[in-house]
Amino acid sequence: MNENIKQVSAVLNPPVPQMVGDGFRVHNFFPSGYKLQMSPFFLLDYNAKIQFSARNEPRGVGVHPHRGFETVTIAYHGAVAHHDSAGNSGVIYPGGVQWMTAASGILHKEYHEEAFSKMGGAFQMVQLWVNLPAKDKMSKPKYQALSQASIAKHELPDQSGLVEVIAGEYQGTKGTASTFTPMHVYHLRLHKDGKASFNFPADFNTAFMVIEGEIKVNNFSIAKADQLVYFKNEGEEIAVEGIQHSVVLILSGAPIHEPITHYGPFLMNKPEEIQQAIADYNQGRFGYLEE
Ligand code: MN
Repeated sequence: MNENIKQVSAVLNPPVPQMVGDGFRVHNFFPSGYKLQMSPFFLLDYNAKIQFSARNEPRGVGVHPHRGFETVTIAYHGAVAHHDSAGNSGVIYPGGVQWMTAASGILHKEYHEEAFSKMGGAFQMVQLWVNLPAKDKMSKPKYQALSQASIAKHELPDQSGLVEVIAGEYQGTKGTASTFTPMHVYHLRLHKDGKASFNFPADFNTAFMVIEGEIKVNNFSIAKADQLVYFKNEGEEIAVEGIQHSVVLILSGAPIHEPITHYGPFLMNKPEEIQQAIADYNQGRFGYLEE
């Protein structure tokens, strides 16, 4: 028995979904669904695959602010259009990632992309909130648009599949997105019977979101699409096997050991910083964005 295995703590079912605006039907795995230690990842909203009917007026969420963290939006089916007050806009297509650093503050809106909305169809996506350390919370907003084609790829041996290195590093392949604190974010695309192994420091908070298919972890735990595999902060090595062809979002990051105060779309360290965010928002200091 290998004593350096990072053991599975739990395989979690998706919590009851809630609507975000009228365009996102999300299962919040954390922080409200389950109390998980996942810093620097603060929030995981998972829109399990659902069908949207065709509609001329795109569904989504209107203009709202963020401060103190990053939103990372990933599309699996359908397409999400984004506009923000820093002047950035773009469309996230399947396999693509939008890494938006709200930091000192932005306004943005998130909608189904127009052509997708008109056609309707399957929709599946993830939004993560990645916390920033105190020293970077008030830094300049930033925007990284990563198409699937632009994301660094690492071929697994024996035609097992592919690791797309969104951020961090996997076996020498450096991630495409830059981050403020150490973390690894991958898409694992594993063929049936394909194998992959991972090595993350014991103290890194780690979870696997199964997007598609079914996997076996550490030769023992079975997890299927829409389940989250949550790991203990012990050991380093994880072995994964594809029971079917599978897609897995892999998250592992160094915790930020700082106090957190969360209020709605703001994530700061101290209550007075939340008050400041509300005051700045009310005074129009987050810029301007048309509805
Ligand atoms: Mn938002």
